[in-house]
Amino acid sequence: MPRRFFTLGQLQRKVLLVVSIIVIVPMLVAGWFAAEWVSSSFEERIEQWIRDAARANQNWLQAYQNDAVMLGRVLADDPAYAAALASRPEESIPAPVKRIAHELGINLIQVYTPDQRLVYSSIPLEMQALWEIGQTEAVLKVVRKQKSMLAAVGITPVPRRGSPRYYLVLGSLLGQDFIDELTQLTGLKTRLYYREGRNYYDVLSRPGEMLALKHLARTARERLEKDKKPYYSVEAENAQFRGLYMPIVDSTGRVEAIMFSGLERRGLQEVLTNRVALFLIISLMGVVIGGLTGLLLSHLVLRPLEYLRNGVMQLAGQNFNATVPIASNDELGDLAKAFNAMAARLREARDEQIQRFRKDKLAAMGELSAALAHEIRNPIGIINTSSALLEKPDYDPQKKAELVRMIREESVRVSNLVQDFLQLSRYRQPAFEVIDPINPMERALELALAGRSNIRAHKEFGHGSARINADAGLLQQAWGNLYTNALQALGGDGGELWVSSRLLDGEVRLCVEDSGPGVPAEIMPRLFEPFFTTKEQGTGLGLTIAYTLVEANGGRLEALPPARHGARFMMQFPVFAKVEA
Ligand code: ADP
Repeated sequence: MPRRFFTLGQLQRKVLLVVSIIVIVPMLVAGWFAAEWVSSSFEERIEQWIRDAARANQNWLQAYQNDAVMLGRVLADDPAYAAALASRPEESIPAPVKRIAHELGINLIQVYTPDQRLVYSSIPLEMQALWEIGQTEAVLKVVRKQKSMLAAVGITPVPRRGSPRYYLVLGSLLGQDFIDELTQLTGLKTRLYYREGRNYYDVLSRPGEMLALKHLARTARERLEKDKKPYYSVEAENAQFRGLYMPIVDSTGRVEAIMFSGLERRGLQEVLTNRVALFLIISLMGVVIGGLTGLLLSHLVLRPLEYLRNGVMQLAGQNFNATVPIASNDELGDLAKAFNAMAARLREARDEQIQRFRKDKLAAMGELSAALAHEIRNPIGIINTSSALLEKPDYDPQKKAELVRMIREESVRVSNLVQDFLQLSRYRQPAFEVIDPINPMERALELALAGRSNIRAHKEFGHGSARINADAGLLQQAWGNLYTNALQALGGDGGELWVSSRLLDGEVRLCVEDSGPGVPAEIMPRLFEPFFTTKEQGTGLGLTIAYTLVEANGGRLEALPPARHGARFMMQFPVFAKVEA
């Protein structure tokens, strides 16, 4: 058997539990009741059948004796017969009566003197026991041709009133064939126990043997002999039979014989009357049916579910080649089909994604290179212009020193920029320190305005002693990008710049506004999109980098509707500390 049969899943265990509860337990209870009912009703019916059959047997026997008694009385009441009886007993019975007797099965005719001396017997036989005076019917043991037999007889005194002169005994000889006949008639084993003194014997069941009726309990004997009632036992004849003992009572009320009719205890009958055996069989059948139901359920429902579960687990483990076998044409089959279709779609989507990712990567690399060039071009431009100015021999020596400083600073800035760019691509962690928020703002402005005399800058700071926790270098870079855009917007003719700071709701708000043409409303939502640009030489990364840098410093960068006409940008940072004035 496969190992997985034993390793039941949670669901299988639950199904088994439910099947046990809703099938096996009620089935055991029903099994017990069914066993109880079948065995008791079967036992009842068997007993009824045995009683009916025993009564038929009894009637059969008593019919012989009744006929004999009736015929005896007819003869005894005939004075001619009584007279003839003394001299010619063998011829005393008239021929028609003989024929009637023969028809009735009466084959034994005997005549006795009052002291029970046999005067005449129609059949030569040896009487083993005699009837008792006063008895009207009897079952007697006789031996004929050395074979024990029984005679069911009726005894009539002649004359019937007054002191008898003879006893007329009429009856039938009963041999093994009589018993066989009864057995065939009723289907039951029949035994006839004749009475001898206080005991009862069966001489017909086993040829040459006399079986005494010894095994009856005292109460059973009392019921038979005193109450003259039949006695039923499920363990009769040494527990070989279930059967009925029927007393054969003569007209004087004396028990002359006991007839036993019984059914041998064996086979199906024993199972059907045995509660425990029945219960075990019904339970076993129930358990087998319950088990088969469970297996069928598991096969029909749980197996497909298990396949589905495996499929889902494989998908969850990124195995997009997972498929589920379609085992049936029902809802579970539909589910399996849907799963396979979903897995196929996921496979395609994954392949598409991989291809798109490769393409995007290449494009991003190109755009990044362009952006880098853009960022480097500005400082290099400043360096170029400054160097050109330096080459002029009549240039103011004081300003020359300023230019040299700017060249140095811009070179450093380029190198920082390249470094920052690399760091940005790898997400550089800011080096936080507590700073005055306008420091990077002013520093960047100074650099931006170097050499631009046509720009007028207005400053209005109102943040007081509030300090923020940020990386001044990174913020200067962000401001630099904003100023670059502003100066580009102002163009060669120059214009005005307003820089301001204020404190609101625990935050420092820093604004820059230019007097340029401003940002058209339709492009406002796209300003911070990477690579979004409206300029011919633009890369669209200036604001993206600024946004990322501000965010990395715990602040927020927004484009605001202008207070005047141009573009207006605002950075806001939470106040980290306030310094004493
Ligand atoms: P780039 O400068 O390379 O175009 P940015 O991200 O810095 O990239 O700017 C994106 C766009 O935002 C610019 O192309 C421009 O249209 C607009 N913009 C930014 N700053 C200003 C400004 N001060 N005035 C007008 N438009 C601006």
